[in-house]
Amino acid sequence: MYKELQSVPKAYNEPVLGYAPGTPERASLKAMLAKMKAEVIEVPMVIGGKRIESDNRVAIHPPHDHQHVLGHFYKSGAEHVTMAIEAALKAAPAWAEMPWQERAAIFLKAADLLAGPYRDKINAATMLGQSKTAFQAEIDAAAELADFFRFNVQYMTEIYAQQPESDKTTWNRLEYRPLEGFVYALTPFNFTSIAGNLPTAPAMMGNVIVWKCSNTQTYSAKVLMDLFEEAGVPDGVINLIYPSGPVGGKVVMEHPDFAGFHFTGSTGVFQQIWKTIGTNIATYKTYPRIVGETGGKDFVLAHKSANVDQVVTALVRGAFEFQGQKCSAASRAYIPDNMWDEVREKLVAQVEGIKMGDPEDFTNFMCAVIDEPSFDKLAMFIDNAKKDTDAEVIAGGQHDKSKGYFIRPTVIVTTDPRYITMEEELFGPVLTIYVYNADEWEVALELVDTTSIYALTGAIFAQDRYVVEQGTKYLSQAAGNFYINDKPTGAVVGQQPFGGARASGTNDKAGSYLNMIRWTSPRTIKENFLTPTDYRYPFMEEE
Ligand code: NAD
Repeated sequence: MYKELQSVPKAYNEPVLGYAPGTPERASLKAMLAKMKAEVIEVPMVIGGKRIESDNRVAIHPPHDHQHVLGHFYKSGAEHVTMAIEAALKAAPAWAEMPWQERAAIFLKAADLLAGPYRDKINAATMLGQSKTAFQAEIDAAAELADFFRFNVQYMTEIYAQQPESDKTTWNRLEYRPLEGFVYALTPFNFTSIAGNLPTAPAMMGNVIVWKCSNTQTYSAKVLMDLFEEAGVPDGVINLIYPSGPVGGKVVMEHPDFAGFHFTGSTGVFQQIWKTIGTNIATYKTYPRIVGETGGKDFVLAHKSANVDQVVTALVRGAFEFQGQKCSAASRAYIPDNMWDEVREKLVAQVEGIKMGDPEDFTNFMCAVIDEPSFDKLAMFIDNAKKDTDAEVIAGGQHDKSKGYFIRPTVIVTTDPRYITMEEELFGPVLTIYVYNADEWEVALELVDTTSIYALTGAIFAQDRYVVEQGTKYLSQAAGNFYINDKPTGAVVGQQPFGGARASGTNDKAGSYLNMIRWTSPRTIKENFLTPTDYRYPFMEEE
């Protein structure tokens, strides 16, 4: 049995394509971008395999060109949420009964479809709808999601292979049942791979899903639904709806069959939902599993022994790729004063040289932020920093939303280590730096550990190995993903399981068995082959 269990193809990381001039992948992606830009598509809900429209048709715009229309999605009302729950529950018995090998095959096929015929489509959708460069779309929508599918199949089989001991006359088994009810997947705008992983990881373990994606990710969500269908996910197993957060939440969180919550998004939304679940706890048939990966205020801490060029590169890539809209993005940095002048000079030169604009122009390093509320919030923090006496904007600071939501990569230097942009997650291309006394490394460690409520990612840069060891120990709770001499972004499935604790989430590590194990409710089965027929034990006999 175990041999059979281990016979799935070994998972591997999807090779990342380079899209350099003259490559076939570049030509084919450009052709797909042109085609999709020229179309106006319909994005209906998908409930029980049926395409459903509502009266509320909402236009989808590229963040970098907000007057252009890519398509329309149909906003869901409470009745659609109920329909999606009913469709999921209807599909549940057959899906739970399906042998795991068949479920594995569906998602292995999804990985190959995604890496093959769907690659351009999912990358182009992510570029146009979420304003990612070709490379940022490739590492997310194509490569990381294929990795999630392949590695999760492997983790699933590793979980199933874990069985209890049996003795001579009994056989003990663990039956890895899905949760009893449905799982609500609530997904963020910033990673197509996360939007794809949150419904599929529990589905792979035999669960049925109601999936609400972000309003600003509906365009690539549609491509994902098409992919799931083509890979063989049966109707009703994953149902995609577009209600507002509160409308979706209310129907779901009041339903007795609500059995699991798979969330990635902001800390405030997660905490609100957790409270609602707590309030409604007596309503549910079973205690819902709650898995949430939330915000971050990710740090780069340089020691006086660090290499300046390594630090500067990590700051530029870590803070500004995908406009700083990665939960892992470096957004606060601590630089020792012995190297500050050199760091400042190189950093400002590189940041001011960053080219930004439309993702269809492959020479751009950055594109637009996701929407107007995000733009307005970032512009406000930047404008405040220009006025505040304890802050100075040393690079960037410009913003312009006339065509798209463009914020120049911005570097703030503050004399207050607890300045607001050192503490709050802004979720945009804004890096704040505090320059510390190079001889006060311990003070800097303490600041890093205590300045923010979050603990998602963080990096230390040092050549001195004693310092590396000390920093790694001291900051053991400060980040769920800790980097030594590397930028704090770019975790790879199967290599750096991702997630943080404190206010950053339940740390169930997406892309690992730790996450997959949350989506099963095991039943222990003990069978006795020599069943006793007398209640008396031997010790009770007369001497
Ligand atoms: P968000 O919290 O605004 O939205 C996430 C989802 O919740 C969306 O589908 C949204 O429509 C829904 N939602 C919003 N308000 C709601 C409400 N009141 N009730 C119910 N649902 C609601 O997050 P976002 O802007 O899409 O994503 C950015 C956030 O996600 C950042 O905080 C980032 O750090 C975090 N994030 C974390 C990780 C991680 O692994 N820790 C990964 C990616 C993103």
